[in-house]
Amino acid sequence: MNLQAVSPMLRRALIRSCYYSKLLSSPSACYVCTISKVARSEEKLGNYLRSKYSSFQSKTCWKCDSAVEKYDLFCSGCNTIQKLDTGRNYFDLFGINERYSVDPKLIQKTFRDLQRQLHPDLYSNKDEEEKKLSEEHSSLVNKAYSVLNHPLRRAQYMLLLKGVDIEKAPADLSQEFLMEIMERNEEVDGLEDEDKIHHLSLMYKNVMMELSKEAEKAFDKGDLEKAKEVVAKMKYFYNLEMKVQDLKRKYGIMD
Ligand SMILES: [Zn+2]
Repeated sequence: MNLQAVSPMLRRALIRSCYYSKLLSSPSACYVCTISKVARSEEKLGNYLRSKYSSFQSKTCWKCDSAVEKYDLFCSGCNTIQKLDTGRNYFDLFGINERYSVDPKLIQKTFRDLQRQLHPDLYSNKDEEEKKLSEEHSSLVNKAYSVLNHPLRRAQYMLLLKGVDIEKAPADLSQEFLMEIMERNEEVDGLEDEDKIHHLSLMYKNVMMELSKEAEKAFDKGDLEKAKEVVAKMKYFYNLEMKVQDLKRKYGIMD
């Protein structure tokens, strides 16, 4: 790919995306390389990059009028916290690719880094507007973390980003599956046998892991129908898993 053919802003965005994703060490997973494989022409590539990196458009700092990139948290001129863009995608916020498979350690590290930069102690001497902004950013970062770090919520969020709300348009699951879930719920309700509770806890954890793998495949293939079906199943099994967790707490059962 000819990097000179793209504008300086897009070039910077490209390099930045690699840096953010910590993927420079594995070129096959890098945006630049992925793009070079899929782009049929420079024009197509330009359009793709423009839509992908529209988030890097510049704006000006609300306090000192210096130019800042759209998603920069702080102004490089006066170091003031910037206004929140509520439409911002959680993956962008954490500087990772929009893929189902995530690196939990990287998410956790980014979360800690962001929270450190947004810590209330750092804003105690700032004006009210900056305090308010740091609180807003902090609450968005918390929300994003709770979604990205949770297999089911992350999957539901990815569907939402693709315009699929399974709460409003539930997946069509077979009667057989729904019967099975009903029976499983009956089995869990009122269960007192501690060995059985322990066994079910491990089993549902495994089922969720398997479903997560299926979700990853479906999202990677761009098969939204399949993803929707898998996510609907995950919801049922997650409820079961939570019921069993409650029983474990009730009877003081350790892992
Ligand atoms: Zn500024």
